[in-house]
Amino acid sequence: MESSTTMCTPLKAGFPTADTPKEECGIFGVYGRGEDVARIAFFGLFALQHRGQESAGIAVGDGTEIRVHKDMGLVTQVFDERRLAPLDGHLAIGHNRYSTTGSSTWRNAQPVYRSVGDAGFALGHNGNLTNTIELAEGLGMLPGLEVPDTDVDSTTDSALVAELVAGQYSSEPRSDGRDLEVALEAVLPRLEGGFSFVLMDDARLIGVRDRHGFWPLVLGRVEGGWVLASETAALDIIGAHFVREVEPGEMVVIDATGIREHRFSDPDPKLCLFEFVYFARPDTYLFGRSVHAARQRMGEELARQAPVDADMVMPIPESGIPAAQGYARASGIPYGDGLVKNRYVGRTFIEPSEQLRAGGVRLKLNPLPENIRGKRLVVVDDSIVRGTTTRQVVAMLREAGAAEVHFRVSSPPYRWPCHYGMDTGRRSELLAADLSVGEIADYLKVDSLAYLELDRLVSATDTPGSSFCTACLSGDYPVPVPELADAKHVLEERVERPDTSTPASFLDTGPGPGG
Ligand code: SF4
Repeated sequence: MESSTTMCTPLKAGFPTADTPKEECGIFGVYGRGEDVARIAFFGLFALQHRGQESAGIAVGDGTEIRVHKDMGLVTQVFDERRLAPLDGHLAIGHNRYSTTGSSTWRNAQPVYRSVGDAGFALGHNGNLTNTIELAEGLGMLPGLEVPDTDVDSTTDSALVAELVAGQYSSEPRSDGRDLEVALEAVLPRLEGGFSFVLMDDARLIGVRDRHGFWPLVLGRVEGGWVLASETAALDIIGAHFVREVEPGEMVVIDATGIREHRFSDPDPKLCLFEFVYFARPDTYLFGRSVHAARQRMGEELARQAPVDADMVMPIPESGIPAAQGYARASGIPYGDGLVKNRYVGRTFIEPSEQLRAGGVRLKLNPLPENIRGKRLVVVDDSIVRGTTTRQVVAMLREAGAAEVHFRVSSPPYRWPCHYGMDTGRRSELLAADLSVGEIADYLKVDSLAYLELDRLVSATDTPGSSFCTACLSGDYPVPVPELADAKHVLEERVERPDTSTPASFLDTGPGPGG
């Protein structure tokens, strides 16, 4: 393996973020002889940038070696023509990362590369395992995930999976070259929690989805090859045709002979419901349904469930736009803009100064007073996780002259942390963890507040409710979750952190820039 990567200083985004869940990761893979696979992977990742903005990486294989380039930052910051040029080959995988296990540091960027004798493979992971401790202990990898005599240097559950897979390689390479595939068949049934993987060795591209299919993964066709991507929108953008979703509990293997499918577990579909609410691009299709149309229907349902006399319906841009459009359509109240968003905020790695930080949410959202002054507003967003940004936005709208602020949320209260791959922090950081809707309305200082009921949300997706994970809204976890309060850093510091669940503390101060 040859790496063209250089070390960089870990950085963190410094702007206040929205009161929405943090994306997990975007994964992409392409197999195509005669194709510029690195360039295709670049544009695939570019289309999936919304799923992770902390680091990006591409691994390319040419049949003899795998080259990896990865670094902190956006896809366009990590790659340029000079970086792409040496990535020559016929198969590639790519990854955009938002850290859900392990810190946001260079060594945790993906794809993960693991050498095994003269061979090697690369892996990109979307999701979070729930039996990380058990698996890591089995390998003697805790604390700190340092394994003697290996090149493991990462603190992610993805590196742990790479280690498990490498452990299944036999000392002599198989004559049919299916070492990675066979190793995965042994390892995958042992993994619990959320995982969609793309993997490659020198000859094969492999896609995997956990038995619940928490995170999407689709198969597409390009001229002379195949593509795997987190979302259908990435297929559109590179000119690929949608073939089908990778099924929960399925592994697909693509090589020179074509495509093979393996079942490693019985499927029990539980797609993350927040893919429909927030995560996925609006131009993506999930279960064959348009995400944008579903979000508009959520707004329509919200208008029927929680009507109010008002002069204008406005979104929190951009996350609340489709639901606000639906609310306006169903209520007959005019739709208008009350806030302008700097679309590039949160996409920079430059820390604002103390003085700029004091401006808080204005770095991201600025009001249009002439549209707001004297009006009774219905303000629509898709979710409220921690609440501090929402509270600042409400104050800003009142300062700009709003007569009334009626807040409407196109999903139910977010009460429980996600353990399958989305970062919300601990339960004590969730605004709705222990507060009633009335108490939340008081905290946000709104005239009225309503959250869309779960059954109405599900009906807006036009998909059976049994197909979804709703754990963060219902507390009903489809896979038992680890006892550790902070599973994100489990491989770095195995320290029990108390989950005090005391929202009163952040009613005073807020949990900080996370939301
Ligand atoms: S807990 Fe919530 S965010 Fe996590 S997978 Fe389930 S629905 Fe999605």
